[in-house]
Amino acid sequence: MKESERRGLTFFEAWSRNRTSLSRCPTEQQLSHGAEVKEGVKIAKQLSRRGFLGTASGAAVTSSVRSLAELSPFRDLSPGETAADQSAGRIVDMHVHFDEKKPGFLDDLLRLADRMNLTACLLTPFAHRRVVADAAKQHPRQIVPFGFVDLDAPDVVRQVEELHSLGFRGLGELEFVKKPYNDPSYFPVYELANRYGWLVLFHTGIVLRKNFDEPEDVASGRMRPIHLEEIARRFPKITVVGAHCGNPEYEWAAEIARWNPNVFFDLSGSTLTKMRGRLAEFQRIFWWSAIDFSVKTPDNDPSAFVKLVFGSDSDLSGVESVAGQYRALFEACDVPARTRKMIMGGTLTKLLGLPE
Ligand SMILES: [Zn+2]
Repeated sequence: MKESERRGLTFFEAWSRNRTSLSRCPTEQQLSHGAEVKEGVKIAKQLSRRGFLGTASGAAVTSSVRSLAELSPFRDLSPGETAADQSAGRIVDMHVHFDEKKPGFLDDLLRLADRMNLTACLLTPFAHRRVVADAAKQHPRQIVPFGFVDLDAPDVVRQVEELHSLGFRGLGELEFVKKPYNDPSYFPVYELANRYGWLVLFHTGIVLRKNFDEPEDVASGRMRPIHLEEIARRFPKITVVGAHCGNPEYEWAAEIARWNPNVFFDLSGSTLTKMRGRLAEFQRIFWWSAIDFSVKTPDNDPSAFVKLVFGSDSDLSGVESVAGQYRALFEACDVPARTRKMIMGGTLTKLLGLPE
């Protein structure tokens, strides 16, 4: 089913039509996307209205979806910052799933990347590794290849070695594991990732049920953020990124990120929709800004929010909407302009050594 068709349906309508083809992180994506698009438009309207109230002309008022494109996280200039600095603000999206069912997906992604000044960490099922490796070689500024492997596959170690030889930069999104993430049987994969100095994106928190009628061997409890702590400590050269900030175990996620310089989280999924009326609560969860714990942060940024990175986990048409949701969080929590840049792309640009 085309995305445009799916968006017109309720979640459960789409679900009943689509249930057999859902394959990736459907929890967060399916549940939240339609709501996110609507919410993004609503936030755009609110922010536009705020802009109107602050200007004499009122020209800022628009209720069109076009205003979403203006919701760049870098829209507000900080003191001493020029428009050129602002336009140089690059977005790095930690969480873009390669959609092999969509013809022209890579072309669509390249267009989006140019329009948004965006680099995508492209989470690629092992079967599609070659086409994405080639695309990444041709477009290193737009595409960073990540390998989407099954940790329980008998040949997963060989798969990871092959991904490395093809130029992949990390793994993810790891999910639907048969054992908790910190089970020793997964250590050979983590040892390789540690040797390669890779980033590894783990799904964390609640996960949707794929099939209502058949038994399935899936449990969110195996994907709790607390399991990432042991991986980060045992394998200090891995940069551990938890998707969805542990939803709903945000507090555990944040505390693990606080003590481990090699742990970050994205806020993709349903969280920013669920919390849209109470985003300031994240100040209570990311509470340690400017308090010295002698913990290394990117650019020595004192804001606790620097432990977040941007991730959309959306189809391509929804990425700008998620960027708008991040911006709403920044506004609600008074996240400094410098930290916003780190979250939206600065941190991942450094960690991945991306070309300018
Ligand atoms: Zn996920």
